[in-house]
Amino acid sequence: MSHDDKARTPHTEGPETALRVVVDPALCIGSGLCLATAPRHFESAEDHRSRARPDAPAADESADDAVALCPMEAIGFLTSRPPAPPPAPPGP
Ligand code: SF4
Repeated sequence: MSHDDKARTPHTEGPETALRVVVDPALCIGSGLCLATAPRHFESAEDHRSRARPDAPAADESADDAVALCPMEAIGFLTSRPPAPPPAPPGP
């Protein structure tokens, strides 16, 4: 992930645009820094790499800190958005 991905961004603009952490398993070396820094956002996988907790809250300052500390730049943010509503049926 590029350094641009690490730019500080608003954590939330509303519930429909909450940012959540994501770990690239191809980059993670399992240092554990993110787990120590933001345990509400990360957990250890069976292979000792980190991954985002499925019940992780929206990104906060601790998630930002984990991004900044990751030696492999393996952490990014995803925007979770609700699914788009179905198209309106054609009118009469
Ligand atoms: S800080 Fe980065 S390299 Fe270390 S465990 Fe977390 S995601 Fe992996």
